Amino acid sequence: TSPWAHFKMAPPDPIIGLNEAYNSDDFPDKVNVGVGAYRCDQGMPFVLPVVMEAEKAIIAEEMDHEYSGIAGCPDFVNLALKFVYGDDCAALQEGRIAGVQTLSGTGGLRVFGETLATFGHKHIYVPDPTWGNHIPIFKNAGLEVRKYRYYDNDSCSLDFSNLIDDMRAMPEGSCILLHACAHNPTGMDPTVDQWKEISNVAMEKNLLPFFDSAYQGFASGDARKDAAAVRMFVEDGHNIAVVQSFSKNFGLYGQRIGALSVVAADPEEAKRVLSQLKVHIRPSYSNPPRHGARIVTKILSDPEKTNDFVHQCMGMAKRIDGMRYELRQALEDLGSGRSWDHVTSQIGMFAYSGLTKDQVVALREKHHIYCTLDGRISMAGVTSNNVEYIARAIHDVTG
Ligand code: PLP
Repeated sequence: TSPWAHFKMAPPDPIIGLNEAYNSDDFPDKVNVGVGAYRCDQGMPFVLPVVMEAEKAIIAEEMDHEYSGIAGCPDFVNLALKFVYGDDCAALQEGRIAGVQTLSGTGGLRVFGETLATFGHKHIYVPDPTWGNHIPIFKNAGLEVRKYRYYDNDSCSLDFSNLIDDMRAMPEGSCILLHACAHNPTGMDPTVDQWKEISNVAMEKNLLPFFDSAYQGFASGDARKDAAAVRMFVEDGHNIAVVQSFSKNFGLYGQRIGALSVVAADPEEAKRVLSQLKVHIRPSYSNPPRHGARIVTKILSDPEKTNDFVHQCMGMAKRIDGMRYELRQALEDLGSGRSWDHVTSQIGMFAYSGLTKDQVVALREKHHIYCTLDGRISMAGVTSNNVEYIARAIHDVTG
């Protein structure tokens, strides 16, 4: 018998599996609003013009394909850290932030999860709900995944008092995962004052804040604003860790480009932390790929190109925002008896629609519209052409 005969068919991935179902559907007006990947208003993948230019320049330079270091490309890492912490960040200037290039956000989350587990952490707290992959990433890293309350389904808003209560109940020293901006899937972030309170409680309880920054610049269109929580926590004196993804804001999904950084007490401690991150990376994938790092480096090392990036990233954020208003308007015009205010008050890539699992299934089976079972709709897949169709379908299944 085959050595694989006892392998059972695994269930499809709850998010990526949607693509497969969508691709095998031959209905002409089918819509994919499952996976969080930006589409232009014609429904096509979008390569930022500044990225295209950078790629041309890289090819013209006829670079070699040597290995990068275990920690990746140092120029990229320095620029990525400036991007999230800000040029004027004292901790960065003092040389007490350890940073490595990672296999995008996912890879950084895994490396840090493993590092936590190695250094005595038994569990990690994630928001309820959170990006679906957080849970298996941290489980596979060897951590028990615990949840803190984040969102109130009835009011479609942040469940702030319960969030704070749950933080106060966490054991001292626990790691708490926070979405830096554009919380996935709810699109609901704390206000500046609420972040301050989260920071204060984290300090009182000696918690370790770990930021997942997957949407910097993509949320509000302003990279500085989207990094405000990260910067506040560093200023408040937390020794945070941050994972950055360049998938969405730079549109570099398949290049797997990201960074993981840890704020240490002093430069010497930062060096020790860096050495331990490398210990996890080396037997895992040895060293990260070069192309995405080269693209981001070309852009962020040049003020003019950075400016172009900011405008193009803002353009994506604006298109999505426009679609939020169109979808809400279309639902209201159809006479939907529900409130769809949350569609426009949420930010980032997703609308956390409030559709039930049954309604999501009906949307798929009756209308060939694919979104995740929690009712998360990727607004990046909504276009001028399909917004009306989507609104009619949502109205049909919720009416
Ligand atoms: N974290 C969050 C909150 C996300 O939404 C995503 C992608 O959807 C990621 C991390 C990881 O994406 P990537 O591995 O492409 O950087």
